[in-house]
Amino acid sequence: MSSIEKYVDPSILKCMPYQPGKPIEETARELGIDPASIIKMASNECPLGPAPRALKAMRKYLREMQLYPDGGAYYLKKKLSEKIKLPENNFILGNGSNEILEFISLCLLKPGASAVMSQYAFVVYKILASMHGAEAVEVPADGLGHNLMAMLKAIKPGTRVVYICNPNNPTGTMVGNRQINAFMKKVPDDVLVVFDEAYVEICPVKAPDTLKYVREGRNVIVLRTFSKAYGLAGLRVGYGIAKPELINILEKVRQPFNVNRMAQLAATAALSDVGFVRKSKKLYKEGARKIADFCNKRKIAYEPTFTNFMLIKVGDGASVFKKLEKKGVIVRPMGPYGLNEWIRVSLGTEEENLRFINELGKIL
Ligand SMILES: *Cc1c(COP(=O)(O)O)cnc(C)c1O
Repeated sequence: MSSIEKYVDPSILKCMPYQPGKPIEETARELGIDPASIIKMASNECPLGPAPRALKAMRKYLREMQLYPDGGAYYLKKKLSEKIKLPENNFILGNGSNEILEFISLCLLKPGASAVMSQYAFVVYKILASMHGAEAVEVPADGLGHNLMAMLKAIKPGTRVVYICNPNNPTGTMVGNRQINAFMKKVPDDVLVVFDEAYVEICPVKAPDTLKYVREGRNVIVLRTFSKAYGLAGLRVGYGIAKPELINILEKVRQPFNVNRMAQLAATAALSDVGFVRKSKKLYKEGARKIADFCNKRKIAYEPTFTNFMLIKVGDGASVFKKLEKKGVIVRPMGPYGLNEWIRVSLGTEEENLRFINELGKIL
């Protein structure tokens, strides 16, 4: 045992780090091919690039980057407050909404505590629970979607957090208003309900209203991000919306400059870019239809999507992932999510979707 290992908490040593989508550069190096010939449809990034207003702001403020960011993110919170119609003190900012998931774990998860989540949900929930020595209670899904009533039943005395990812990554499913209302009627008041809404802005139908629970002062936090709808994944900025008492607790574990200056400026500008979000929604709708048409024609099972990615049942997900990668198309094998037969493909530009369909068609 190395000299420091014995001092490290066993739950940290047991941790399995998150496996992100494979970067284009890495695949290019491994295959010895030109990065420009590779398309990445693995991390639900925006195929249209960053929101143009964000780009413009980044160019404009480039020469200010010797300055530290505003630790309180005054302007970004002000803009969020106007847009979401809740006071500034209902918001907390994170280095991606991922960092807010970390704040929540730091404050609430420890040995003896548990976190309830769906069997097929964002793996970060599980990773964070075990990192803090808490139990991750994975509740069998209803098909591929969340079974909220079963999740309710899984809550026990030590349960501190329930994660509802809606629309859900990696399945693309969504639970509706009625189910969420029924869940919220019964969930104990001392269990924090985390609504992870990373895809809500691009959801093709009206997503359930969860902000009403924030307004009612319930023990909930709604998480959103600039990574998906606004195409700013590389900048790392997300936010949480909750009652001030909860925000104040989470603020205690936040480092002052967690959201960098460029990210704050770009995100503030991006919020006005409604045209961009509309355009990308249209692109996703068409892309999802094209891929669904292809699957229907070839009798391949897929899960209808409420987001910008689709789960497709290809048989051996790991092998299809490898074969697609050799053709320069990076998707996500779903083995780590317990869905060995599936791949997840992020919807791309029209051209990228066609290339994906074409290559998948040849493989299957
Ligand atoms: C992408 C994603 C996030 C977080 O993204 P950040 O880049 O950290 O803001 C959170 N939850 C889900 C379900 C996601 O898919």
